[in-house]
Amino acid sequence: MFCWLSRLCRGLSTPTRRTTQLIWSSASRSLVLSSQRRIPELSSFVARTNTCGELRSSHLGQEVTLCGWIQFRRQNIFLVLRDFHGLVQVVIPQDESAASVKKILCEAPMESVVQVSGTVISRPPGQKNPKMPTGEIEIKVKTAKLLNSCKKLPFEIKDFMKKTEALRLQYRYLDLRSVQMQYNLRLRSQMVMKMREYLCNLHGFVDVETPTLFKRTPGGAKEFVIPSREPGKFYSLPQSPQQFKQLLMVGGLDRYFQVARCYRDEGSRPDRQPEFTQIDIEMSFVDQTGVQSLIEGLLQYSWPSDKDPVVVPFPSMPFAEALASYGTDKPDTRFGMKIVDISDMFRNTEVGFLQDALSKPQGTVKAICIRKGAKYFKRKDIESIRKFAADHFNEEVLPIFLKTSETWNSPVAKFIMEEQGLGLVKLLETQEEDVVLLTAGEHKKACSLMGKLRLECADLLEARGVVLRDPALFSFLWVVDFPLFLPKEENPQELESAHHPFTAPHPNDIHLLYTEPHKVRSQHYDLVLNGNEIGGGSIRIHNSEIQHYILATVLKEDVKLLSHLLQALDYGAPPHGGIALGLDRLMCLVTGAPSIRDVIAFPKSFRGHDLMSNAPDFIPPEELKPYHIQVSWPTDAETEKSSSNHPCLSES
Ligand code: ASP
Repeated sequence: MFCWLSRLCRGLSTPTRRTTQLIWSSASRSLVLSSQRRIPELSSFVARTNTCGELRSSHLGQEVTLCGWIQFRRQNIFLVLRDFHGLVQVVIPQDESAASVKKILCEAPMESVVQVSGTVISRPPGQKNPKMPTGEIEIKVKTAKLLNSCKKLPFEIKDFMKKTEALRLQYRYLDLRSVQMQYNLRLRSQMVMKMREYLCNLHGFVDVETPTLFKRTPGGAKEFVIPSREPGKFYSLPQSPQQFKQLLMVGGLDRYFQVARCYRDEGSRPDRQPEFTQIDIEMSFVDQTGVQSLIEGLLQYSWPSDKDPVVVPFPSMPFAEALASYGTDKPDTRFGMKIVDISDMFRNTEVGFLQDALSKPQGTVKAICIRKGAKYFKRKDIESIRKFAADHFNEEVLPIFLKTSETWNSPVAKFIMEEQGLGLVKLLETQEEDVVLLTAGEHKKACSLMGKLRLECADLLEARGVVLRDPALFSFLWVVDFPLFLPKEENPQELESAHHPFTAPHPNDIHLLYTEPHKVRSQHYDLVLNGNEIGGGSIRIHNSEIQHYILATVLKEDVKLLSHLLQALDYGAPPHGGIALGLDRLMCLVTGAPSIRDVIAFPKSFRGHDLMSNAPDFIPPEELKPYHIQVSWPTDAETEKSSSNHPCLSES
């Protein structure tokens, strides 16, 4: 018997095939589990008695009515009907008296939607299909109705992998019929349901909707503006419900949550969407550990039952350590290859660029050791690593190949003194066939470069068959003790918030606010999963004076824009804190999807377009009049410049 899913699985490349197989078996398992728990009624209120995927031998003899799409037809004898729940084989009647039923079922094009009624019968001996959940039975059809015919499709629904993402987005409603998209959206819905249950039913949170027509918030991401009918006045779409959730605490709501839509006009960035969803949370009278424990419990409770259970508490790492050992604030802790500071060993070096770097005040030398790198890396890999460092960081990277544990092969081998070599072996615990990559420069920059190279090397090793990161492993990590402010990139003399301006300073550092603000740590925490930031939050400032001082004096923001919040803090605002989880990214990691667009029903393309409806679109000038705005059309030269500046010309 033809099996749609196993064929789909066979057609996929190795890693995806594995994921899809896992997904399919887990999808059917979780449906069974959830039906055992709650027995969802899948056919109430509608024109069917059963779903295609649910029929088994226990239904033998039952009269059923099914609705679904024609997935496959064989020799005008069998038809495979599909709905969201699965596939079922329908036997097309061959006798004269059922000629009209046969005509409907044989003439309807693939993907037409039909209703059939008939009896559940056992498949003849030898024709059972153990790979198909409904493979023991088939439907002996008595009546059939063509509910709607399907024209020639832009792509085959079965063939998930062989279409461009732009085409999938253009016909998203067809793409949603794929097993993968069905699985992703259904798992998302289940997890959100469990989160609601945990927050509202187990912990007394209140689900409150906050406005999406709001005003500009200073000191954060760039916001989308919405014209109003008052000349020169605009709304802004909130980058998050941050102000509202704090105001809800002032309003005594005590525990708030929302599946909140957020908007950020940050241009095209891989794996970002201009509108995205957060599980947004705020609590009164809470501290950092309180919020962290809540989130650990939330993830544990809502985690899909077919995955390894979430182990709590999650480990925690100070930001400074994350930067020093992993070169990033979102370390992937599933593998080692940590960055090691080897500055002390090279104080007397004769290697020019190391000498140069160490002569500067913040100069350091950093290294990572790639286990068995000499075995897996080719010369061109090392060259591309060095080119990456030069192009993106303007830094030199020195490779050292370890032939035997103490013989070095490197462009500068002769300059590496014996005790430096031995020191490297000891500090990096190098062994035969390892490759050491060295760089030098200011601490943060050198760490960031090494952090990027660490990930590049991990990808390269995995592409060569080394298993570094277990795909079934979910490694959660709290990153804490961030600085409250960072020097502005364009003007390092000025400070900006490391996260947002409502984050409270670390209680031990408050005095430094007035003297050395750049040294103040914050009460911010980020949640990282497998090297991706999936959430962040903080204890907030609830003292109006401190909030005013930070906005006006440290950040030099226009406090008038936030006068409502400052005033609210003066009227008995409780101490409070919260967090937001990025739902799209979380789901992307949980499902193993290649992009966050695969866990969003109707995402925008890489360039922020809706390829299905063509949004954003032009508006006739007369429709702009009520808003008192006019378009200033770019010149041809400007248009050309902006498209050539674009990092990626592909739509998706
Ligand atoms: N509103 C913050 C954000 O969107 C999260 C938080 O601080 O709760 O990043």
